[in-house]
Amino acid sequence: MIIAGEWRRASDGATTEIRNPASGEVVDRAAAGTQQDIDNAIDAAQSAFRNWSSTPPAQRAEIMSRGTRVVKEREKDLARLLTQEQGKPMREAVAEIRRFAKTMEYYASLAKTLRGGQVEDLDEQRYGMIVKQPIGVCGAILPWNFPVSLMANKIGPALVTGNTMVVKPAPTTPLTDLQVVRILIEAGLPPGVLNVVPGPAEVVGESLLRDPRVRKIAFTGSTKTGKHVMETAATNVKRVTLELGGSDPMIVCDDANIDEAVSGASVGRFFNCGQACIAVKRLYVFDSVFDRFITALVAKVEKLRIGNGLEQGITTGPMHTEAHRAEVEAQVDDAVKRGARVLTGNTRPYEQGYFYSPAILVDVDEQSRMLKEEVFGPALPVMRVKDLDDAIQKSNDTIYGLGSSIWTRDLEKANEAARRLEAGYTWVNSIPDLYDELPFGGVKQSGLGKEHGVEALDYYQETKSVVVARSNRRPAKLS
Ligand code: NAD
Repeated sequence: MIIAGEWRRASDGATTEIRNPASGEVVDRAAAGTQQDIDNAIDAAQSAFRNWSSTPPAQRAEIMSRGTRVVKEREKDLARLLTQEQGKPMREAVAEIRRFAKTMEYYASLAKTLRGGQVEDLDEQRYGMIVKQPIGVCGAILPWNFPVSLMANKIGPALVTGNTMVVKPAPTTPLTDLQVVRILIEAGLPPGVLNVVPGPAEVVGESLLRDPRVRKIAFTGSTKTGKHVMETAATNVKRVTLELGGSDPMIVCDDANIDEAVSGASVGRFFNCGQACIAVKRLYVFDSVFDRFITALVAKVEKLRIGNGLEQGITTGPMHTEAHRAEVEAQVDDAVKRGARVLTGNTRPYEQGYFYSPAILVDVDEQSRMLKEEVFGPALPVMRVKDLDDAIQKSNDTIYGLGSSIWTRDLEKANEAARRLEAGYTWVNSIPDLYDELPFGGVKQSGLGKEHGVEALDYYQETKSVVVARSNRRPAKLS
């Protein structure tokens, strides 16, 4: 773990084995943080806060940029480690390290735009200032699916605005995060500004949630855990941002470019082995193009190359854990019991590793778990709809509201979908991808607050008003 700029063991010496999901081999061991460790990390972040928050933003940004340059130089090694601990193919791991760098560069570039406001004459004697201040010590709790890029979404806006942070990676993916933070510290990030404590959720995560010195929690993970985070944070009225689960619908209209929509569905659902919050998780296709679409989609998906992400040409790695694979299989089983047909996939192609062949299902009953819950893996239910109204209604019939997409050549339909789909993002004729420039965050039970965009800065700053009475009062000019 990294506390106060130092690489440390757990206070009781305990470690966790980090295993490669493709082979089961031990990649490395990570310190398993204790109550003592998380206390020390919060202490370190608190001690570092005063200096860091009074360092000019441009200087903070310079340090962030210097570290980010080194991360980019070492992208191959970092990506290899990420593939080993997470399972994703090398190409996707490299893309994730680059995404980390882009997000860090984006937030560093905003340093010189940070500003407050002033009201010149509140009355005859006083003027007012609107001051933006960092919140203090923030906690970041991360999931395992994009451990590195999701860390940037938190540390980028937090550090540039002058906060200090304690990061808790997911228990199964701490290794690349630790190496990235080590690089940032070697590049000049002062001790204590950024600390990483891996370890069990019940100890490390809970302590971050409960410790009153931690003033904000930035959480990415499941809706179930997110509710617990919000409830626990409420005890100390901590600020929270919650980036939670989703069940993103994709709508394919009869006038869509079918080939492109098929590619969009395949990438959108099966990228990162289906383990993405903004993956396409329910597909609604207009009746008149359904058969053509599904035939092309099955053919495309059957060309995906499943295997160890370190091997050349692999497009689909293993699922991250045995438990996650079993969960997707159970959701598919439930759909089949309710009458669904599996057109391809839903097998375990290799004995070793948590591999699962991408599945496509049709005739899925509306009460199936696949349509009611988030499917966090490579299985896609495809449903027929009669028109746009039917598609939007079914799309919105969920507790989630993260992303959504529509494929059509008709601007009216695209605009109607963008207006009516209950989601934080709508892509039109595009695969679901995120941009630093655009705020991202779910509606309904998919989250609270925004990451990305200048909007994210608001979630790491308090707004304070200051009233100043002038000593040399100015006479009123009226009459
Ligand atoms: P998870 O909720 O199980 O865990 C997320 C993190 O919370 C982990 O670090 C975990 O150790 C920690 N945690 C668990 N219990 C805790 C507790 N009691 N106190 C404090 N911390 C605790 O989620 P996961 O399985 O790691 O990730 C998958 C989920 O994340 C999916 O639902 C996915 O949609 C969601 N996700 C959302 C986004 C987004 O931006 N909206 C992005 C990626 C993933």
